Amino acid sequence: MIRECNLCGATKVLVERSGDFARAKRCVCQEICPICNNTGYLFTKDERGYSVVKPCSCTSLDRCIEWFNQAGIPGHYANATFQSFDVKGDPIKSSLRQHAYRFAQEFEIGQPGILYYGPCGTGKTHLTIAILRHLILHRGIRAKFVEFMHLLSDLRARFGELGSTDRVLEPLVQVPVLAIDELGKNRGSDWEQSILDELISKRYNAHRTTLFTTNLYPSPEQNQVSLESRVGERIYSRLREMCDARPVMGKDYRLQLSPSARYHASSM
Ligand SMILES: [Zn+2]
Ligand SMILES: [Zn+2]
Repeated sequence: MIRECNLCGATKVLVERSGDFARAKRCVCQEICPICNNTGYLFTKDERGYSVVKPCSCTSLDRCIEWFNQAGIPGHYANATFQSFDVKGDPIKSSLRQHAYRFAQEFEIGQPGILYYGPCGTGKTHLTIAILRHLILHRGIRAKFVEFMHLLSDLRARFGELGSTDRVLEPLVQVPVLAIDELGKNRGSDWEQSILDELISKRYNAHRTTLFTTNLYPSPEQNQVSLESRVGERIYSRLREMCDARPVMGKDYRLQLSPSARYHASSM
């Protein structure tokens, strides 16, 4: 039984901001793997008593860390975990957090995603990132985060370079879990709209899980622009089939972290 480390809380990973992105690394307690002494394998006996060699669990830890570092998690959210999500004694927030945690804990490849909607600053992105972090670091499932406006400008730039939408979209279609933040922030050009349509349709047809956050209400309310009118009927109807839509409300959400929470890649 390994004693719990007070830096990583037995998660073996530390996450910190590094420039624009969040970066994970092995915790100090894992710099030299206490199981295999950094050889990457260990000797064990099979059921007949013969010595066999098997890969140490730290090899998958390194793979998860690499995936986390390729996931595009913004540096600003390096500390976003379920534990650091401030529910402020609000039972609705608390049940949202519980739902997100269960989603990540019980996630199976190909299941429907979540569409979080609600005003700015209520914690939609925080919850989404906490889910991705748990999936990558604790479940070993590859996931990516993209901010909607960056996605569009990136697609435009890569399309100019590669000249084919298939090649541009490929990595975003293949990843088992993709989170698109601030969907519908801008109307976008017709070309951008068609690329988004293609990406969502391809993920839909391949039964891949997509998470979304948006500041827009799904359907028209109080004369505001709705998500449906912003992304168009076709994308909107796909979204409804691909995701479970959940409102995230709250007037004064602010991300507040205790100094020690910074260093905890907690499982909750
Ligand atoms: Zn540690
Ligand atoms: Zn090891």
